[in-house]
Amino acid sequence: MGSLALSRVEVLDQPAPSIAGEVARIAREQLAPLAAGIDDGSVYPAEVLRAFGAVGAWGSHMPLEGPADLRCAIESMAVIGEVCGATAFMAWCQNTLVWYAANSTNLKLARRFGDAFSTGRVLGGTGLSNPMKSFFGIEKLKLKGRKVEGGYIVRGALPWVSNLGPDHFFGTIFEREDDQGTVMFLADCSDPAITLTPCKPFLAMDGTGTYGVQFRDVFVPDELILADPAAPFVKKIRAGFILLQAGMALGVIRDCINIMDEVDSPLGHINRYLPQQPVHFRELAAELEAETMALARDPYNEEETYWRKVIALRLRAGEASVAAAHAAMLHCGARGYLKSHRAQRRLREAYFVAIVTPATKQLRKMLADF
Ligand SMILES: Cc1cc2nc3c(=O)[nH]c(=O)nc-3n(C[C@H](O)[C@H](O)[C@H](O)COP(=O)(O)OP(=O)(O)OC[C@H]3O[C@@H](n4cnc5c(N)ncnc54)[C@H](O)[C@@H]3O)c2cc1C
Repeated sequence: MGSLALSRVEVLDQPAPSIAGEVARIAREQLAPLAAGIDDGSVYPAEVLRAFGAVGAWGSHMPLEGPADLRCAIESMAVIGEVCGATAFMAWCQNTLVWYAANSTNLKLARRFGDAFSTGRVLGGTGLSNPMKSFFGIEKLKLKGRKVEGGYIVRGALPWVSNLGPDHFFGTIFEREDDQGTVMFLADCSDPAITLTPCKPFLAMDGTGTYGVQFRDVFVPDELILADPAAPFVKKIRAGFILLQAGMALGVIRDCINIMDEVDSPLGHINRYLPQQPVHFRELAAELEAETMALARDPYNEEETYWRKVIALRLRAGEASVAAAHAAMLHCGARGYLKSHRAQRRLREAYFVAIVTPATKQLRKMLADF
Protein backbone atom coordinates (compact mmCIF):
# COMPACT_ATOMS: atom_id res chain seq x y z
CA MET A 1 0.00 0.00 0.00
CA GLY A 2 1.39 3.42 -0.94
CA SER A 3 2.42 5.81 1.82
CA LEU A 4 -0.38 8.27 0.95
CA ALA A 5 -3.17 5.81 1.76
CA LEU A 6 -4.85 6.32 5.14
CA SER A 7 -5.53 3.37 7.41
CA ARG A 8 -9.10 2.88 8.69
CA VAL A 9 -8.07 4.15 12.14
CA GLU A 10 -6.58 7.29 10.58
CA VAL A 11 -9.76 7.87 8.54
CA LEU A 12 -11.92 7.62 11.68
CA ASP A 13 -9.61 10.12 13.40
CA GLN A 14 -10.36 12.82 10.80
CA PRO A 15 -12.70 15.49 12.16
CA ALA A 16 -16.31 14.84 11.09
CA PRO A 17 -17.38 17.37 8.47
CA SER A 18 -19.29 20.12 10.30
CA ILE A 19 -22.92 20.74 9.38
CA ALA A 20 -22.05 24.22 8.09
CA GLY A 21 -19.14 22.75 6.11
CA GLU A 22 -21.44 20.23 4.45
CA VAL A 23 -24.02 22.95 3.80
CA ALA A 24 -21.30 25.11 2.21
CA ARG A 25 -20.30 22.22 -0.06
CA ILE A 26 -23.91 21.65 -1.20
CA ALA A 27 -24.35 25.40 -1.66
CA ARG A 28 -21.28 25.56 -3.93
CA GLU A 29 -22.05 22.41 -5.90
CA GLN A 30 -25.84 22.36 -6.17
CA LEU A 31 -27.16 25.81 -5.25
CA ALA A 32 -24.72 28.13 -7.07
CA PRO A 33 -25.79 26.93 -10.54
CA LEU A 34 -29.44 27.64 -9.63
CA ALA A 35 -28.98 31.08 -8.02
CA ALA A 36 -29.82 33.12 -11.14
CA GLY A 37 -32.93 31.00 -11.83
CA ILE A 38 -34.09 31.35 -8.22
CA ASP A 39 -33.55 35.10 -8.46
CA ASP A 40 -35.62 35.43 -11.63
CA GLY A 41 -38.36 33.17 -10.26
CA SER A 42 -38.00 30.29 -12.69
CA VAL A 43 -36.68 27.87 -10.03
CA TYR A 44 -37.94 26.87 -6.57
CA PRO A 45 -35.05 24.77 -5.20
CA ALA A 46 -37.00 22.06 -3.30
CA GLU A 47 -34.37 19.38 -3.92
CA VAL A 48 -31.51 21.54 -2.64
CA LEU A 49 -33.54 22.46 0.45
CA ARG A 50 -34.02 18.74 1.08
CA ALA A 51 -30.30 18.11 0.54
CA PHE A 52 -29.49 20.75 3.19
CA GLY A 53 -31.95 19.06 5.51
CA ALA A 54 -30.32 15.67 4.94
CA VAL A 55 -26.98 16.96 6.30
CA GLY A 56 -28.62 18.46 9.40
CA ALA A 57 -29.08 22.11 8.40
CA TRP A 58 -32.63 22.30 9.76
CA GLY A 59 -32.22 20.33 12.96
CA SER A 60 -29.31 21.75 14.95
CA HIS A 61 -31.29 24.45 16.77
CA MET A 62 -33.94 22.14 18.22
CA PRO A 63 -33.98 22.36 22.02
CA LEU A 64 -32.46 19.36 23.75
CA GLU A 65 -34.22 18.81 27.06
CA GLY A 66 -34.15 22.51 27.89
CA PRO A 67 -31.69 24.89 26.26
CA ALA A 68 -31.36 25.55 22.55
CA ASP A 69 -28.38 26.83 20.59
CA LEU A 70 -28.97 28.65 17.32
CA ARG A 71 -25.33 29.18 16.30
CA CYS A 72 -24.96 26.29 13.87
CA ALA A 73 -28.30 27.10 12.20
CA ILE A 74 -27.24 30.73 11.76
CA GLU A 75 -23.81 29.83 10.36
CA SER A 76 -25.44 27.35 7.96
CA MET A 77 -27.83 30.04 6.72
CA ALA A 78 -24.91 32.44 6.34
CA VAL A 79 -23.00 30.04 4.07
CA ILE A 80 -26.18 29.54 2.02
CA GLY A 81 -26.64 33.32 1.88
CA GLU A 82 -23.10 33.78 0.58
CA VAL A 83 -24.32 31.95 -2.54
CA CYS A 84 -28.01 32.97 -2.73
CA GLY A 85 -29.91 35.37 -0.47
CA ALA A 86 -33.30 34.05 -1.56
CA THR A 87 -32.36 30.53 -0.50
CA ALA A 88 -31.03 31.84 2.82
CA PHE A 89 -34.50 33.31 3.31
CA MET A 90 -36.13 29.95 2.51
CA ALA A 91 -33.67 28.39 4.97
CA TRP A 92 -34.91 30.84 7.59
CA CYS A 93 -38.54 29.92 6.75
CA GLN A 94 -37.76 26.21 7.21
CA ASN A 95 -35.72 26.77 10.37
CA THR A 96 -38.50 28.88 11.83
CA LEU A 97 -41.08 26.18 11.10
CA VAL A 98 -38.83 23.66 12.89
CA TRP A 99 -38.45 26.14 15.78
CA TYR A 100 -42.25 26.35 16.19
CA ALA A 101 -42.81 22.58 16.19
CA ALA A 102 -39.85 21.94 18.50
CA ASN A 103 -41.12 24.44 21.07
CA SER A 104 -44.75 23.39 20.98
CA THR A 105 -46.16 21.71 24.06
CA ASN A 106 -48.55 19.82 21.78
CA LEU A 107 -46.52 16.63 21.96
CA LYS A 108 -48.63 14.85 19.34
CA LEU A 109 -47.81 17.62 16.88
CA ALA A 110 -44.12 17.65 17.84
CA ARG A 111 -43.93 13.88 17.33
CA ARG A 112 -45.78 13.96 14.01
CA PHE A 113 -43.87 16.86 12.46
CA GLY A 114 -40.59 17.24 14.39
CA ASP A 115 -38.51 14.88 12.23
CA ALA A 116 -40.39 15.61 9.01
CA PHE A 117 -39.58 19.33 9.24
CA SER A 118 -36.06 19.04 10.66
CA THR A 119 -34.91 16.59 8.01
CA GLY A 120 -36.48 18.61 5.19
CA ARG A 121 -38.78 15.73 4.22
CA VAL A 122 -41.64 18.21 4.63
CA LEU A 123 -40.95 21.82 3.68
CA GLY A 124 -42.65 25.00 4.78
CA GLY A 125 -42.47 28.32 6.50
CA THR A 126 -44.07 30.92 8.67
CA GLY A 127 -46.88 33.42 8.34
CA LEU A 128 -46.03 35.52 11.36
CA SER A 129 -45.43 38.92 9.74
CA ASN A 130 -48.99 40.07 10.28
CA PRO A 131 -49.15 38.76 13.89
CA MET A 132 -45.72 40.24 14.69
CA LYS A 133 -46.94 43.60 13.41
CA SER A 134 -50.23 43.26 15.27
CA PHE A 135 -48.52 42.44 18.60
CA PHE A 136 -46.61 45.72 18.31
CA GLY A 137 -49.65 47.81 17.41
CA ILE A 138 -48.92 48.26 13.70
CA GLU A 139 -51.84 46.40 12.07
CA LYS A 140 -54.80 44.18 12.95
CA LEU A 141 -54.74 40.36 12.78
CA LYS A 142 -55.90 39.13 9.40
CA LEU A 143 -57.05 35.60 10.39
CA LYS A 144 -60.08 34.92 12.59
CA GLY A 145 -60.98 31.61 14.26
CA ARG A 146 -64.17 30.18 15.74
CA LYS A 147 -64.07 27.40 18.35
CA VAL A 148 -65.84 24.20 17.30
CA GLU A 149 -65.78 20.62 18.56
CA GLY A 150 -62.19 19.29 18.15
CA GLY A 151 -60.62 22.46 16.79
CA TYR A 152 -61.32 25.83 15.14
CA ILE A 153 -62.75 27.13 11.88
CA VAL A 154 -60.37 29.74 10.42
CA ARG A 155 -60.99 32.38 7.75
CA GLY A 156 -59.09 35.33 6.32
CA ALA A 157 -56.07 35.90 4.08
CA LEU A 158 -52.33 36.52 4.43
CA PRO A 159 -50.76 38.54 1.60
CA TRP A 160 -47.34 36.83 1.50
CA VAL A 161 -46.09 33.51 2.88
CA SER A 162 -42.87 31.98 1.53
CA ASN A 163 -41.36 28.53 1.05
CA LEU A 164 -44.77 27.11 0.20
CA GLY A 165 -46.13 24.58 -2.25
CA PRO A 166 -49.10 22.23 -2.43
CA ASP A 167 -47.74 19.80 0.20
CA HIS A 168 -46.11 22.36 2.52
CA PHE A 169 -46.98 23.54 6.05
CA PHE A 170 -46.57 26.87 7.80
CA GLY A 171 -47.10 28.27 11.27
CA THR A 172 -49.37 31.26 11.79
CA ILE A 173 -51.82 32.86 14.22
CA PHE A 174 -55.51 33.72 14.28
CA GLU A 175 -57.58 35.82 16.62
CA ARG A 176 -60.53 34.11 18.29
CA GLU A 177 -63.86 35.59 17.23
CA ASP A 178 -65.07 35.35 20.84
CA ASP A 179 -62.26 37.73 21.93
CA GLN A 180 -60.61 34.95 23.96
CA GLY A 181 -57.14 35.75 22.62
CA THR A 182 -54.99 34.36 19.84
CA VAL A 183 -54.06 30.81 18.77
CA MET A 184 -51.00 29.62 16.86
CA PHE A 185 -51.37 26.67 14.50
CA LEU A 186 -49.91 24.81 11.55
CA ALA A 187 -51.62 25.43 8.24
CA ASP A 188 -51.64 22.47 5.86
CA CYS A 189 -51.41 23.76 2.27
CA SER A 190 -52.92 20.54 0.92
CA ASP A 191 -56.23 21.39 2.65
CA PRO A 192 -58.76 22.12 -0.13
CA ALA A 193 -60.09 25.09 1.89
CA ILE A 194 -56.66 26.78 1.68
CA THR A 195 -55.81 28.53 -1.60
CA LEU A 196 -52.30 29.60 -2.62
CA THR A 197 -52.26 32.47 -5.13
CA PRO A 198 -48.96 33.41 -6.83
CA CYS A 199 -47.83 36.96 -6.00
CA LYS A 200 -47.07 39.69 -8.52
CA PRO A 201 -43.36 39.61 -9.44
CA PHE A 202 -41.09 41.02 -6.74
CA LEU A 203 -37.84 42.93 -6.97
CA ALA A 204 -36.07 39.74 -5.81
CA MET A 205 -37.08 36.54 -3.97
CA ASP A 206 -39.37 35.34 -6.78
CA GLY A 207 -38.07 31.77 -6.51
CA THR A 208 -38.96 31.52 -2.83
CA GLY A 209 -42.37 29.88 -3.26
CA THR A 210 -44.15 32.99 -1.98
CA TYR A 211 -47.95 33.05 -2.21
CA GLY A 212 -50.96 34.92 -1.00
CA VAL A 213 -52.83 32.44 1.21
CA GLN A 214 -56.57 32.42 1.63
CA PHE A 215 -58.36 30.48 4.37
CA ARG A 216 -62.01 29.73 3.48
CA ASP A 217 -63.49 28.34 6.69
CA VAL A 218 -60.60 25.93 7.17
CA PHE A 219 -61.09 23.33 9.90
CA VAL A 220 -57.93 23.34 12.04
CA PRO A 221 -58.01 20.24 14.26
CA ASP A 222 -56.51 20.22 17.77
CA GLU A 223 -53.64 18.12 16.35
CA LEU A 224 -52.44 21.15 14.38
CA ILE A 225 -52.54 23.65 17.25
CA LEU A 226 -49.03 24.86 18.14
CA ALA A 227 -50.10 26.99 21.11
CA ASP A 228 -53.43 28.00 22.62
CA PRO A 229 -53.15 30.72 23.85
CA ALA A 230 -50.45 31.98 21.47
CA ALA A 231 -49.13 34.92 23.50
CA PRO A 232 -46.81 33.10 25.95
CA PHE A 233 -45.54 30.87 23.12
CA VAL A 234 -44.71 33.89 20.95
CA LYS A 235 -42.79 35.37 23.86
CA LYS A 236 -40.79 32.16 24.06
CA ILE A 237 -39.97 31.84 20.34
CA ARG A 238 -39.66 35.50 19.34
CA ALA A 239 -35.92 35.96 20.03
CA GLY A 240 -35.11 32.82 18.02
CA PHE A 241 -37.41 33.97 15.20
CA ILE A 242 -35.45 37.24 14.91
CA LEU A 243 -31.92 35.97 15.64
CA LEU A 244 -32.15 33.29 12.94
CA GLN A 245 -32.60 36.11 10.40
CA ALA A 246 -29.01 37.21 11.12
CA GLY A 247 -27.87 34.27 8.97
CA MET A 248 -29.33 35.91 5.85
CA ALA A 249 -27.63 39.20 6.67
CA LEU A 250 -24.21 37.67 7.37
CA GLY A 251 -24.29 35.71 4.11
CA VAL A 252 -25.19 38.73 2.00
CA ILE A 253 -22.58 40.93 3.71
CA ARG A 254 -19.82 38.32 3.28
CA ASP A 255 -20.46 38.04 -0.44
CA CYS A 256 -20.54 41.82 -0.81
CA ILE A 257 -17.05 41.86 0.72
CA ASN A 258 -16.03 39.13 -1.77
CA ILE A 259 -17.37 41.26 -4.62
CA MET A 260 -15.37 44.29 -3.46
CA ASP A 261 -12.25 42.12 -3.16
CA GLU A 262 -12.77 40.69 -6.65
CA VAL A 263 -12.62 44.13 -8.29
CA ASP A 264 -9.69 45.31 -6.18
CA SER A 265 -7.09 44.23 -8.72
CA PRO A 266 -8.50 46.06 -11.76
CA LEU A 267 -10.10 48.99 -9.89
CA GLY A 268 -8.34 49.31 -6.52
CA HIS A 269 -6.36 52.38 -7.67
CA ILE A 270 -9.59 54.35 -8.01
CA ASN A 271 -11.84 52.46 -5.55
CA ARG A 272 -9.55 53.52 -2.69
CA TYR A 273 -11.19 56.96 -2.89
CA LEU A 274 -14.52 55.47 -1.85
CA PRO A 275 -15.24 56.10 1.83
CA GLN A 276 -16.28 52.51 2.60
CA GLN A 277 -13.74 49.78 2.03
CA PRO A 278 -13.86 45.99 2.43
CA VAL A 279 -11.86 46.31 5.63
CA HIS A 280 -14.70 48.33 7.20
CA PHE A 281 -17.24 45.66 6.31
CA ARG A 282 -14.94 42.90 7.52
CA GLU A 283 -14.85 44.63 10.90
CA LEU A 284 -18.60 45.22 10.86
CA ALA A 285 -19.35 41.61 9.87
CA ALA A 286 -17.04 40.31 12.59
CA GLU A 287 -18.77 42.48 15.19
CA LEU A 288 -22.24 41.45 14.05
CA GLU A 289 -21.25 37.82 13.99
CA ALA A 290 -19.76 37.93 17.48
CA GLU A 291 -22.84 39.66 18.88
CA THR A 292 -25.20 37.30 17.03
CA MET A 293 -23.40 34.18 18.20
CA ALA A 294 -23.32 35.40 21.82
CA LEU A 295 -27.09 36.02 21.78
CA ALA A 296 -27.77 32.81 19.82
CA ARG A 297 -26.53 30.63 22.69
CA ASP A 298 -29.40 31.73 24.90
CA PRO A 299 -32.60 32.18 22.88
CA TYR A 300 -34.92 31.60 25.85
CA ASN A 301 -33.45 34.45 27.90
CA GLU A 302 -36.45 36.37 29.28
CA GLU A 303 -34.65 39.53 30.37
CA GLU A 304 -35.80 42.77 28.77
CA THR A 305 -32.16 43.83 28.22
CA TYR A 306 -31.59 40.64 26.21
CA TRP A 307 -34.70 41.26 24.08
CA ARG A 308 -33.58 44.83 23.45
CA LYS A 309 -30.17 43.58 22.32
CA VAL A 310 -31.83 41.13 19.90
CA ILE A 311 -33.91 43.94 18.35
CA ALA A 312 -30.93 46.30 18.12
CA LEU A 313 -28.81 43.57 16.50
CA ARG A 314 -31.53 42.79 13.95
CA LEU A 315 -31.77 46.48 13.06
CA ARG A 316 -28.00 46.72 12.57
CA ALA A 317 -28.00 43.52 10.49
CA GLY A 318 -30.55 44.95 8.03
CA GLU A 319 -28.78 48.30 7.78
CA ALA A 320 -25.35 46.68 7.39
CA SER A 321 -26.68 44.42 4.60
CA VAL A 322 -27.93 47.41 2.62
CA ALA A 323 -24.72 49.38 3.31
CA ALA A 324 -22.50 46.49 2.19
CA ALA A 325 -24.50 45.90 -0.98
CA HIS A 326 -24.48 49.63 -1.75
CA ALA A 327 -20.70 49.72 -1.31
CA ALA A 328 -20.30 46.63 -3.50
CA MET A 329 -22.25 48.41 -6.28
CA LEU A 330 -20.02 51.48 -6.05
CA HIS A 331 -16.84 49.37 -6.05
CA CYS A 332 -18.00 47.38 -9.09
CA GLY A 333 -19.04 50.34 -11.21
CA ALA A 334 -20.35 49.34 -14.64
CA ARG A 335 -19.45 45.69 -14.07
CA GLY A 336 -21.99 45.50 -11.23
CA TYR A 337 -24.59 47.38 -13.26
CA LEU A 338 -24.81 44.47 -15.69
CA LYS A 339 -27.86 42.30 -15.08
CA SER A 340 -25.58 39.27 -15.28
CA HIS A 341 -23.43 40.46 -12.34
CA ARG A 342 -24.45 39.38 -8.87
CA ALA A 343 -23.74 42.79 -7.28
CA GLN A 344 -27.16 44.07 -8.32
CA ARG A 345 -28.78 40.84 -7.11
CA ARG A 346 -27.06 41.39 -3.76
CA LEU A 347 -28.47 44.92 -3.56
CA ARG A 348 -32.01 43.65 -4.16
CA GLU A 349 -31.54 40.82 -1.65
CA ALA A 350 -30.11 43.21 0.94
CA TYR A 351 -33.21 45.40 0.77
CA PHE A 352 -35.26 42.33 1.57
CA VAL A 353 -33.26 41.76 4.77
CA ALA A 354 -34.18 45.31 5.75
CA ILE A 355 -37.90 45.04 4.89
CA VAL A 356 -38.87 41.52 5.94
CA THR A 357 -40.71 41.51 9.26
CA PRO A 358 -39.57 42.88 11.60
CA ALA A 359 -38.74 45.60 9.08
CA THR A 360 -36.36 48.48 9.80
CA LYS A 361 -39.29 50.79 10.60
CA GLN A 362 -40.88 48.26 12.97
CA LEU A 363 -37.56 47.66 14.74
CA ARG A 364 -37.13 51.40 15.20
CA LYS A 365 -40.64 51.62 16.65
CA MET A 366 -39.93 48.71 19.00
CA LEU A 367 -36.77 50.41 20.25
CA ALA A 368 -38.59 53.74 20.59
CA ASP A 369 -41.35 52.03 22.65
CA PHE A 370 -38.95 50.49 25.20
C1 LIG B 1 -40.93 38.44 -1.17
C2 LIG B 1 -41.62 38.50 0.14
C3 LIG B 1 -41.75 37.36 0.91
C4 LIG B 1 -42.41 37.41 2.13
N1 LIG B 1 -42.54 36.27 2.85
C5 LIG B 1 -43.24 36.29 4.00
C6 LIG B 1 -43.43 35.10 4.76
O1 LIG B 1 -42.94 34.03 4.43
N2 LIG B 1 -44.19 35.16 5.87
C7 LIG B 1 -44.75 36.32 6.30
O2 LIG B 1 -45.44 36.31 7.31
N3 LIG B 1 -44.55 37.48 5.63
C8 LIG B 1 -43.81 37.48 4.50
N4 LIG B 1 -43.61 38.66 3.82
C9 LIG B 1 -44.06 39.91 4.40
C10 LIG B 1 -42.90 40.68 5.01
O3 LIG B 1 -42.35 40.01 6.12
C11 LIG B 1 -43.33 42.08 5.46
O4 LIG B 1 -44.39 41.96 6.33
C12 LIG B 1 -43.72 42.92 4.32
O5 LIG B 1 -42.56 43.05 3.51
C13 LIG B 1 -44.24 44.28 4.73
O6 LIG B 1 -43.67 44.68 5.91
P1 LIG B 1 -43.74 46.17 6.45
O7 LIG B 1 -43.54 46.09 7.91
O8 LIG B 1 -42.81 47.02 5.67
O9 LIG B 1 -45.22 46.62 6.19
P2 LIG B 1 -45.81 47.68 5.17
O10 LIG B 1 -45.41 47.35 3.78
O11 LIG B 1 -45.55 49.04 5.69
O12 LIG B 1 -47.35 47.41 5.37
C14 LIG B 1 -47.87 46.16 5.17
C15 LIG B 1 -49.38 46.24 4.94
O13 LIG B 1 -49.66 47.10 3.85
C16 LIG B 1 -50.58 46.51 2.98
N5 LIG B 1 -49.92 46.29 1.67
C17 LIG B 1 -48.62 46.38 1.40
N6 LIG B 1 -48.40 46.13 0.10
C18 LIG B 1 -49.56 45.90 -0.46
C19 LIG B 1 -49.99 45.60 -1.75
N7 LIG B 1 -49.15 45.46 -2.78
N8 LIG B 1 -51.28 45.41 -1.94
C20 LIG B 1 -52.15 45.54 -0.95
N9 LIG B 1 -51.81 45.82 0.31
C21 LIG B 1 -50.54 46.00 0.55
C22 LIG B 1 -50.99 45.20 3.60
O14 LIG B 1 -52.17 45.39 4.33
C23 LIG B 1 -49.89 44.88 4.58
O15 LIG B 1 -50.31 44.20 5.70
C24 LIG B 1 -42.95 38.65 2.60
C25 LIG B 1 -42.81 39.79 1.82
C26 LIG B 1 -42.17 39.74 0.61
C27 LIG B 1 -42.03 41.00 -0.18
